[in-house]
Amino acid sequence: MQNIQMVDLKTQYSKIQAEVDEAVLEVIRSAAFINGPKVKSFQANLEAYLGADTNVIPCANGTDALQIALMALDLKPGDEVIVPSFTYVATAEVIGLLGLKPVMVDVDPHTFNVTAEIIAEAITPATRVIVPVNLFGQSCDMEPIMALADKHKLWVVEDNAQAIGADYIFAGGRSQKTGTIGHIGCTSFYPSKNLGAYGDGGALYTSDKALAERIRVVANHGQQRTYYHDHIGVNSRLDSVQAAILDIKLRHLDAYAEARQTAAAAYDAGLMDVKDLVIPARQHNSTHVFHQYTLRVTNGKRDELQAFLREKGVPSMIYYPVPLYKQEAYSHYAPDDFELPVTEQLCREVISLPMHTELNREMLNYIIDTVQSFFA
Ligand SMILES: *Cc1c(COP(=O)(O)O)cnc(C)c1O
Repeated sequence: MQNIQMVDLKTQYSKIQAEVDEAVLEVIRSAAFINGPKVKSFQANLEAYLGADTNVIPCANGTDALQIALMALDLKPGDEVIVPSFTYVATAEVIGLLGLKPVMVDVDPHTFNVTAEIIAEAITPATRVIVPVNLFGQSCDMEPIMALADKHKLWVVEDNAQAIGADYIFAGGRSQKTGTIGHIGCTSFYPSKNLGAYGDGGALYTSDKALAERIRVVANHGQQRTYYHDHIGVNSRLDSVQAAILDIKLRHLDAYAEARQTAAAAYDAGLMDVKDLVIPARQHNSTHVFHQYTLRVTNGKRDELQAFLREKGVPSMIYYPVPLYKQEAYSHYAPDDFELPVTEQLCREVISLPMHTELNREMLNYIIDTVQSFFA
């Protein structure tokens, strides 16, 4: 058996190598390095993939996408932004960077996502934005979150860095791609993400044309016309080489999601009956594209399990080990005794198994057997 990796990008590349190599060389030969035709083409193809009225604004990475989204919303220092405490740091980082106040909230213990009920309790007169994070590959329950935002006149910026390609299903049965339901969606093309470049990349999406225009201006030095700057903006572009690669990989995105779902189903079947282990719950109104396959270890032996797996050649990761409000840089946003019980519990219990598009049955069996043997 080959070495088991947390993420295997080399094997994935080997299957599309001829196409990718040619597209990269084309960019170099054309010297259209900045905002060239490959960027336009990828933007148009991603718009088509996400749905008819979605405007895509490519940018340099997922963190920039979140920052640009908040900069486009005309907020003022001290405005409150509600954000889950169980997420990657980038989500809260940009809030702090812009002088806004992150208000950290708990998540649902089963889906790991924030809910409208949790958000509702954190709304104050200073709240301006909600940033739901579609964690590990499935959507938050967006319909009630949008209704809540409507009622309180709040913006919703979806952090969709981990869930590109997943579908949210409305109560009426209609489905829509994750990230297109909030006023703005943000995504990352970091190499290990479900749609990963061979370097950094990101994008924003919105169906609001005026908002799309504001976002474009912010991402381009605050200029509507070259050399006329109406706002302070940033310089955040998707590289043409990365766009060429992403344009090819976008065609495989649904097949990649299926490969991840197949691996997740195998893990489920092999691990669902293991005592002290909880398999990931599926949000009832979302498909799951498994950016991560995350288990909960409920007998307090998560770290022992991880050491055991490492010894047996099975990599694993803890996403995320520390609640945001306990991070040195963010603790001042919360009172001293601040504690969110579910976040605390998840930080102690979660462990993510290898998840990528190249896991074969032999690898999955080995991983499942190894996990089972720890609990036997
Ligand atoms: C990866 C990620 C980001 C940041 O994306 P980068 O491209 O690395 O800047 C933001 N939020 C979440 C939830 C992520 O997983």
